[in-house]
Amino acid sequence: MIGKKMLDEFNEQIKYEMESSWLYLSMATWFHDQDWPGMAAWMEKQAMEEYQHAMKFYTHIVGREGRVEFQALGKPKKDWESPMDAFQDAMKHEQMITGRINHLVQLAVEEKDNAAMPMLDWFISEQVEEEGSVSKVLQMMERAGGNNFGLLILDGKLGARQ
Ligand code: MG
Repeated sequence: MIGKKMLDEFNEQIKYEMESSWLYLSMATWFHDQDWPGMAAWMEKQAMEEYQHAMKFYTHIVGREGRVEFQALGKPKKDWESPMDAFQDAMKHEQMITGRINHLVQLAVEEKDNAAMPMLDWFISEQVEEEGSVSKVLQMMERAGGNNFGLLILDGKLGARQ
């Protein structure tokens, strides 16, 4: 059985992960609108991953006989100034999520919730990966320096993401 404090926080985290999914899907629609199909596909995959993150918390709660309680999701932003602007937003968002995960780890330690640790460990590594992959895209964008030909090459590369 999961304690009330952790249960509330994990339910809150489902909201954060679903909002991440919603945000990246919103970015995908913007990229489609701007005719960057590779970046759109990259964001669609990212959105699916975020949905799976939410499901990890969902499965964890259900597995520990807690009650999942959904919360209202905020409306995601829908316009960006440039591909770089969108990826910078994604970076800021992932840094915020990393902060959330750190908060959950801290709380699990305080609450001596050992059962939550394997899942939270997974999220710690996942956040390193998430920030790393967005950071790599930003580096390549900086290299392209707003040059459309460079961005076109990057778009093809991002579209190939598995
Ligand atoms: Mg996530």
